[in-house]
Amino acid sequence: MAQLTIDIKKLKHNIQFLVQHCNNFGLKITGILKGSGLNPIIIHEMISNGIDNVGFSNLPVNNTYEKVFPQKPVFISLPSIHNLSNIIQYFGTSFNSEISVIKKINEVLIEEDRSHNIILMVDTGDLREGVLPENVVDIVKQIHEIKNLRLDFSGIGANLGCCAGMIPNEQNINILQELAIQIETQLSLPVKTISIGGSVMLDWLETSRLPDKINQIRLGEAIFLGNIPTIDKKHKDLHDDVLIFRSDVLETSEKRIDQPKNIGKNAFGYKPEFLHTGVRKRAIMNFGICDTYPEGLQPVGDGLEIVCVNSNYTIIDFTNSREDLKPGDFVEFKMNYMSMHQSFISPFTSIIYKQKSDE
Ligand SMILES: *Cc1c(COP(=O)(O)O)cnc(C)c1O
Repeated sequence: MAQLTIDIKKLKHNIQFLVQHCNNFGLKITGILKGSGLNPIIIHEMISNGIDNVGFSNLPVNNTYEKVFPQKPVFISLPSIHNLSNIIQYFGTSFNSEISVIKKINEVLIEEDRSHNIILMVDTGDLREGVLPENVVDIVKQIHEIKNLRLDFSGIGANLGCCAGMIPNEQNINILQELAIQIETQLSLPVKTISIGGSVMLDWLETSRLPDKINQIRLGEAIFLGNIPTIDKKHKDLHDDVLIFRSDVLETSEKRIDQPKNIGKNAFGYKPEFLHTGVRKRAIMNFGICDTYPEGLQPVGDGLEIVCVNSNYTIIDFTNSREDLKPGDFVEFKMNYMSMHQSFISPFTSIIYKQKSDE
């Protein structure tokens, strides 16, 4: 039995703190949902506690997003040219970097008589999505030269800390400010939204001066995990246990572990490594990679260590724990970014909402 528990009170705290904190810098928050997708409870907490809008990385499968929102959410992935009609239907804004796709969006908007905003992504050094800074003004010009322009150009955005591990610095942050000024002066076009992200920005904000035109921050991980990624630091004012993965013990045993001489590969094709030898207490947990990303879990209790991961089992060594585990006992884990997404996505992991922290 694999469970992902969401502590609503702690979630609320993280949201309220970040809204207040970011508002002090003149930033509105777009709350980013990836693995969690269209989760009405999380979305409700975000919107009712001051998050401006929510952004999704994927198209909905079964639900229409329209039912849940007062305003259309943001599509934060680059739109696929094959899905433009759906993207425009569900999302009010999308992040773009290809002029051919932007032109196609405009065509679909005309055909379907709809409206849609686009943010042009700029690669400020993380080497993921976005046009290079030196091409931005020209692309914005090309966008505005599209015949029968139907889409709205709402601004520019950039992402850090995702691919090249680029952390924010004065230089890469200022690129956006300078580009916005160039667009406004050279093309006489307003740049309403200047969007930065993700959670890696939070640490930088503490010590640096944010250029005044930047007005939106996209945050996911910090809200759920209380963590500042890329530099791998817990945020001092945020809870890191909003999300807890929980599962039960199926078997416990004391097993003798010898360092084997000729070992074959394990279930995933790797040669196993044995960190401990001798007689060890081991518990087989009722989850594996079908339920979450077990390597990213951190047992909450002392002296517990994940030693083996399979599709449906995860084995923990509890030799050094003061707790004695038996079948049926529950073990709790904090989670990292990958474990969070995989738990939300897994059809085998149930989501449990904990309404009060002290229960
Ligand atoms: C995932 C993502 C974010 C959020 O990043 P976190 O590190 O989870 O805060 C923001 N913007 C874009 C474009 C993303 O893909």
